[in-house]
Amino acid sequence: MYRTHTCGELRLADQEKNVTLCGWIQRSRDLGGMTFIDLRDRYGVTQLVFNMDTDALLCNEARRLGREFVITAEGRVTERSNKNPKMPTGDIEILVSRLNILNTSLTPPFTIEDESDGGDELRMKYRYLDLRRNPLKNNLLLRHQMAYETRSYLNSQRFIEVETPVLIKSTPEGARDFVVPSRVNPGQFYALPQSPQTFKQLLMVAGYDRYMQIVKCFRDEDLRADRQPEFTQIDCEMSFVHQEDILAMFEGLVRHLFQSIKGIAFNEPFPRLTYAEVLEKYGNDKPDLRFGMEFVEMTGKAKGRGFSVLDSAAYIGAIVAPGCSEYSRKQLDELTEFVKKPQVGAKGLIYIRLGTDGTVKSSMDKFYTAEDMLEMAATAGAVPGDLILILAGDRIPTQKALSELRLEMGNRLGLRSKGVFRPLWVVDFPLLEWDGATDRFYAMHHPFTSPKAADIGYLDTDPARIRANAYDCVINGVEVGGGSIRIHEEQLQKKMFKTLGFTDEEAERQFGFLMSAFRYGAPPHGGIAFGFDRLVSLFAGEDSIRDVIAFPKNNAARDVMADCPSEIADEQLKELSIRVQKS
Ligand code: ASP
Repeated sequence: MYRTHTCGELRLADQEKNVTLCGWIQRSRDLGGMTFIDLRDRYGVTQLVFNMDTDALLCNEARRLGREFVITAEGRVTERSNKNPKMPTGDIEILVSRLNILNTSLTPPFTIEDESDGGDELRMKYRYLDLRRNPLKNNLLLRHQMAYETRSYLNSQRFIEVETPVLIKSTPEGARDFVVPSRVNPGQFYALPQSPQTFKQLLMVAGYDRYMQIVKCFRDEDLRADRQPEFTQIDCEMSFVHQEDILAMFEGLVRHLFQSIKGIAFNEPFPRLTYAEVLEKYGNDKPDLRFGMEFVEMTGKAKGRGFSVLDSAAYIGAIVAPGCSEYSRKQLDELTEFVKKPQVGAKGLIYIRLGTDGTVKSSMDKFYTAEDMLEMAATAGAVPGDLILILAGDRIPTQKALSELRLEMGNRLGLRSKGVFRPLWVVDFPLLEWDGATDRFYAMHHPFTSPKAADIGYLDTDPARIRANAYDCVINGVEVGGGSIRIHEEQLQKKMFKTLGFTDEEAERQFGFLMSAFRYGAPPHGGIAFGFDRLVSLFAGEDSIRDVIAFPKNNAARDVMADCPSEIADEQLKELSIRVQKS
């Protein structure tokens, strides 16, 4: 055996034990007569001591060890005179009597400490060194624990994990496919799954009833902080269920994770808001409910005083920033600059300050009397000391901009604490989305989502009005999961494909296998998939999912460590019957 204990394990109660530890040298300090080494492994850090007086040879050897050398050290556990309460092993140290170098190390390109001096790219290039640091290590341990608890909960609910293939025919989740050429079928390609959607539905046809899988999905999209070309889902499907059953089951999963991992219990059922409601109140289909500041529509109230910005607006919306009436000119200018940013897109910002002394001041004093503004403030639900922020313009873009402003104010007022969690369900999504550019409808969720029974009639008359049996789970402004009750009747599925602009032949070519399956007794079914990386990063308090993935890609979809993607040999291309066009 290389070791008797780990580096995180020994305590005062182990005094006088003879132990052997293995690990990496985190740091060493040479104090003349004594040399101290912090030895690290996955479990923690233990201090080793070498004493010049008792063993000069060994002490000299210890002095020559560099950072990140891998060693085994044998010795006696003793009480430290200089205890370190910050370390779990800080009461003891090991008086080393034997040392063995298992491997040397180059000096690492950045410090392997909780706060590293390495920049992002450098740490990505040497990810295996970065993974030695506590912040990443803790995230991976958390990830493991969450996967474990997910399986445990779903197993207790009779779900079984079934693996689905990675080389498949395209699945439509609204992104581009990654494709893989087939050598044995020249000129033909597999797609990597954007999700196991069609397979999990086939498993329902096969009678498997309750399916789950923690599974890699692949989508060729432009990357952002919460996107990676490959990511992990907790993918689930159930038969003989209504939407209500799915929401209850998976609210149970989310609760189980919060309870078992964070010790957080939610007393109330998760709020359920319709898509229409969240857009009206928060301008966003994934609202952050850690704070209020709901929109107040002023369109009917604020017109007719000759202020063209408001008079010409299709929508006027306000939020009330509590206690901000004393915002300085500079702060208001900053907010104005903020809303004018291209990604926010408003033309300008109107404000009303409601002083604690009852006075009102506004950027539109010229057009409105104090009474007008007090009335508007009252409509907005403001009280003395509040600042009312107003945006005006076309409805949808203005609501989006107001949503950004709301989140910005939430940040400024410290209302978005990472330790607070506010989950909700958003329900009743529209089934379809019209795309002006291509002049056709797209499925808002995916083409297998069922319309609400009450709205099916609109398929022929007004498809944009149809609401879907589709739902998202949202926590703190992050969409952590989404799913739907599926269509399980062949005729309705055919009609849906038609509405989406597929000809019968195209639908048959792409989804013939699913349609055939529907002819053999498809049960009513539905499901959901949670973005596992997002869920873990939310639990970890990280802003980027990269920090909870062992080997992520960078923003240009590259693995900078392995330098991938990369060109392949001509020979390989030939085998695949592929010619690359050099630009
Ligand atoms: N396949 C869907 C997705 O990846 C989830 C679902 O409908 O279950 O978003």
